[in-house]
Amino acid sequence: VGEFDLIARYFARPVRRAALGVGDDCALLCPRPGTQLAISTDTLVAGRHFFADVAPHALGHKALAVNLSDLAACGAQPLAFTLALTLPAADEAWLAGFASGLLALADAHGCELIGGDTTAGPLSITITVFGEVPQGRALLRSGAQPGDDIYVSGTLGDARLALNALQGQRPLPPEVLAHARQRLETPSPRVALGLALRGLATSAIDLSDGLLGDLGHILERSRVGAEVEADDAIELIASRAYFTGATSQFSSEDWRQQAYPLALAGGDDYELLFTAAPQCRAEVAQAAATAQTPVARVGRITAQPGLRVRDAQGQNLAAHFASFDHFA
Ligand code: ADP
Ligand code: MG
Repeated sequence: VGEFDLIARYFARPVRRAALGVGDDCALLCPRPGTQLAISTDTLVAGRHFFADVAPHALGHKALAVNLSDLAACGAQPLAFTLALTLPAADEAWLAGFASGLLALADAHGCELIGGDTTAGPLSITITVFGEVPQGRALLRSGAQPGDDIYVSGTLGDARLALNALQGQRPLPPEVLAHARQRLETPSPRVALGLALRGLATSAIDLSDGLLGDLGHILERSRVGAEVEADDAIELIASRAYFTGATSQFSSEDWRQQAYPLALAGGDDYELLFTAAPQCRAEVAQAAATAQTPVARVGRITAQPGLRVRDAQGQNLAAHFASFDHFA
């Protein structure tokens, strides 16, 4: 197929809320009066962010999921997105799988594909998402206050566990790998939670690079410090039963040493990390219930700058974990 047939066949769809979608020089969006547009871009590059032979359906899902996760972190309602696709070849079976994974997640969030660009080259996917948030109500990285609780949604570390296994660094039983791999390949953006946290969370960020590194961004923007309980964080590893259950071959000390880096610096979790005042615990629990997304407390914000990460012995682990930086 040629470029224009390809776009028409896989990516052109009738518009819903947008005034104009695929097919003209620009798309047109109509944000409602009293709202702000929340805009974010993320690129996935083959060999760096995903294995080039990953199932195309999963890749389509993940490319949009990581972008929706940024909207979630701002408490924005997804509206629309653009797709810049660089493809080594127009492989129709691959395109059909990719489009179905992408558009299924888009439909689940009412987020419409309104345009993009298609070029030949090494496989890479850039999505820009547009969301809507009532004027002045976006969740930011900059509002954390001393004394606030620090919360994380969902589970931590399983994506990194799968990555380690797929890279041959760690054998896992097939059922443990299958679950962890879902967390790596098809993360669930926490959009409903982000919306429920508007006016309640004092700051928020989505976890793409690892808990400590991403928390570091909140600390910097909010000019505060934090204490994190490492043993509360490792409780959030969904696969932990395999390592700590009655038939496990790992000692609890072995498990802790493996679990700390997974939960604290794993990356690719696409959960929300947020802060809220300690007197709002009941409201946070209510927001989590409304969003049908579990949340757990993993620490608190301090006026004293810096990050202290306590392990089971009360030792500070912070120095052992640096966040992922593409150019470091
Ligand atoms: P232009 O040359 O004006 O930049 P293009 O020829 O690149 O336009 O694209 C034609 C139309 O198809 C535009 O509306 C563009 O937004 C849309 N489009 C191109 N690639 C994609 C894609 N991968 N997904 C969705 N829409 C696309
Ligand atoms: Mg173009």
